[in-house]
Amino acid sequence: MSSDISKTGQTGQTDSAEGPVNPVYCALDTPDLARAEALAAQLAGHVGGLKIGMEFFYAHGVQGYHAIARQGLPVFLDLKLHDIPNTVASAVRALAPLAPAWLNVHAAGGGAMMAAAADAAREGAAKSGTRPPLMLAVTVLTSLADADLDAIGVAAGPSAQVLRLAALAQANGMDGVVCSAHEIVALRAEMGPDFKLVVPGIRPADSATQDQKRVMTPAEACRLGADVLVVGRPITQSDNPAQAARAIADSLTEID
Ligand code: C5P
Repeated sequence: MSSDISKTGQTGQTDSAEGPVNPVYCALDTPDLARAEALAAQLAGHVGGLKIGMEFFYAHGVQGYHAIARQGLPVFLDLKLHDIPNTVASAVRALAPLAPAWLNVHAAGGGAMMAAAADAAREGAAKSGTRPPLMLAVTVLTSLADADLDAIGVAAGPSAQVLRLAALAQANGMDGVVCSAHEIVALRAEMGPDFKLVVPGIRPADSATQDQKRVMTPAEACRLGADVLVVGRPITQSDNPAQAARAIADSLTEID
């Protein structure tokens, strides 16, 4: 992202009349429905979107999803689907009526699986009269180090494997990848300007890193080319989540 926070928004939109798109998505990592709903309500107007994952969706399902989506913010449904192509496609079609802004699958499921997921996103959305989600691939989980990859038969180091899987994802209809901030530069160079880079592990300069090992500030990640920043605990564990989210968004307006 170059001059402001608006070049590419979380739904691929550019600036609207309402102003620049806020690229910050807050990760609502809690199985507690009331807490997630309260956070979503507090954050409306201060973040660009909300991310809910397995922890929340397995506990509260479609009703829980609607309780969050009711705020009107774009939702990233972080379910990391990974199965045979037919099963993943069926899952994507089943999720399409929820109209998440973003949905993801594991690139390790292979090219055919990703292509089936991308087709299913379009078909499912057309059938339910919704907008298709932007489809993301998860490349290498950041919890896996060289030795872990070696143990599952991946001889390439994490960086080479990330680029390999991102290229496979792009060739098979994915709109982008979830990546570490430290992969932004290489991925942007390899994948071109339109491939979406959704980046967790973001920490404001004054914030605790918790269990994230390789963090980056929001402004730096945007400057390097991130499209969406996923921020969890620096917002959710703040005494004032709305203010914390606002401060992050404001820190992005000075990027040049
Ligand atoms: O609280 P924190 O900002 O660390 O939350 C980051 C969010 O991004 C969590 O939902 C986490 O699961 C997710 N994530 C991550 N690293 C990845 C992929 C996803 O931290 N490589």
